[in-house]
Amino acid sequence: MAGALRGSIEAGGTKWICAVGTGLDDLASETRIDTTSPSETLGRVIDFFRNQPAIDSLGVASFGPLELRSDRANFGSITATPKPGWSNTDLAGTLGGALGVPVGIDTDVNGAALGEGRWGSAVGLTSFVYLTVGTGIGAGVLVDGRPLHGLVHPEIGHVAVNRHPDDGFAGLCPFHGDCFEGLASGPAISERWGDEPRQLAPALARSAAQMEAFYVAEGLRTIVFTLAPERIIVGGGVSQIDGFHQDVRSALMKTLAGYPGLSEHESEDFVVAPGLGDRSGIAGGFVLADLALAAS
Ligand code: ZN
Repeated sequence: MAGALRGSIEAGGTKWICAVGTGLDDLASETRIDTTSPSETLGRVIDFFRNQPAIDSLGVASFGPLELRSDRANFGSITATPKPGWSNTDLAGTLGGALGVPVGIDTDVNGAALGEGRWGSAVGLTSFVYLTVGTGIGAGVLVDGRPLHGLVHPEIGHVAVNRHPDDGFAGLCPFHGDCFEGLASGPAISERWGDEPRQLAPALARSAAQMEAFYVAEGLRTIVFTLAPERIIVGGGVSQIDGFHQDVRSALMKTLAGYPGLSEHESEDFVVAPGLGDRSGIAGGFVLADLALAAS
């Protein structure tokens, strides 16, 4: 399989990145397509790949929720998404049918985790988590090298978190109000403090950053205690706050409260930034393409 061309897609709510190459480190071409309607967007994506040298498999790391149970007729479809017009869109079937190649598909965050495992901050590890904190909060989970799926992929953005004692903000998750995402997403920060952290006066920005670290650590505690990851990679726009990863490490130590007392949890290597920056998702598409070819 070495040297064969793969296609990779990072499908997002505002843009799709499409790339062709043998892997992230050997790209032949790449483009960005704005997300509009499903038919228009998928049409442009298919046109891009048809105008490239032939690929032998395609990997898609997509926004969701996705149907990932392989025995379902709608496997590889976006299911009920709040993104207008995109519910019940068959991604894997449409792309695979048009391009005539096997398609591997997973969530954007599982894709990012796979990418970080191949080329980024989790090389050599088999059980780890990629968490994104941005417009929403989501996590990809690799267990023994495989993305975790069950009835549905994990929805870690919606776990319950303890409240910060100084926080009166109601939370903005439309389903749960003050769940992890409801209290700690980028929009939650902006609504609570009246602006993004970087636009706030320094003293207020510091308070906002520390409260954010508190909430991210609350979410990470649930991840640590339920999934036992070897490492947690935290990316997304909110993770760009100055000192974010160090603040989260400190807050995590407080909320773990010495249990179970592993030195690994205290290490600077436990909560880290993505090694691939904003390229984790497109990297993951290449890994998914490899998996699709191996399974075909
Ligand atoms: Zn929620």
